[in-house]
Amino acid sequence: MLCNTEYPDCTCGTNRWEPGGGQFTPNFQTTNGVCGACGRVGIHIMHPGGVLYIVPKGPKLTEDHDKWINGVMFPVWRIEEGKIDKARMDFEEKQWQAFAREHGVDPFVPPGGWPEDVRRVFHKVADEYMKTDAYLRPLGNRPSPMPPRLPMDLAAWIGGYSTGKLVWVPVNHALVQDLPVPEDPILTRHMANWGRIFTATEALLGEPLPEKSLIKNQYYSDSTNHEPWFTFTWHGKTVTVGPRKRVNVVEITNPTPTARDFVERTGKKDGTTHDVGDDRVMLHAWGDVKTVEYLVNLLRAA
Ligand SMILES: [Zn+2]
Repeated sequence: MLCNTEYPDCTCGTNRWEPGGGQFTPNFQTTNGVCGACGRVGIHIMHPGGVLYIVPKGPKLTEDHDKWINGVMFPVWRIEEGKIDKARMDFEEKQWQAFAREHGVDPFVPPGGWPEDVRRVFHKVADEYMKTDAYLRPLGNRPSPMPPRLPMDLAAWIGGYSTGKLVWVPVNHALVQDLPVPEDPILTRHMANWGRIFTATEALLGEPLPEKSLIKNQYYSDSTNHEPWFTFTWHGKTVTVGPRKRVNVVEITNPTPTARDFVERTGKKDGTTHDVGDDRVMLHAWGDVKTVEYLVNLLRAA
């Protein structure tokens, strides 16, 4: 059965969605509606790897629903997004090579380095390409991934395609209960990478670091970048590390004069953003090697 209305029916049986409903999960782009008949909130969650519409069977969405979205659906969508990106890049690579051959330009030089007239044609072709299925749906009209272990007290629909139009396909609980929950590929890589940073820091420091706590990403809160940051206590001081867009933040509280001096000197020498406050010092490290260097120096100076 496919629903062709804009949104599926509420679990109370009516279809009178009105705008509103507030924020559900901060990590995703969502459109929320309130049922005009019963007041339940319906949520349309959008991720580059898939879309889902959910309505609680009980009166409200719960923390468990939020946990399920973030713990189960997030990795499912990230894996799908990876496949979509790969298919798109493979296609673009071929088109790019063909375009360069056809216009006698070097495919290994970005369009900025091509003659003006070729560049103009390229931008036109690129604009048109963004409107095609090859760009929008490089894997074809396949539906959003099925949601493993959909909570029994949640009604859900995945986005599907029928003659190129998005339709809502209801999810049958019995069919998805045993679907495996995949490992989140980006989170796994993130944890492994920081594991290496901490191991290198311990080796240079000559002593083990204490247990680290995971904290919310202090910079990103969007659907593709919200890997956790790390914090731990070192000689009574709080050390916080984690990635920003292209750098890693290294911060320690209650800095000694040595630590303040290190940040001041190193920030200038490396030409990187740094901050020497009364109660904390902070540096932006460009790359993992610098992250280890700054951490070791700040921990030694603590
Ligand atoms: Zn309702």
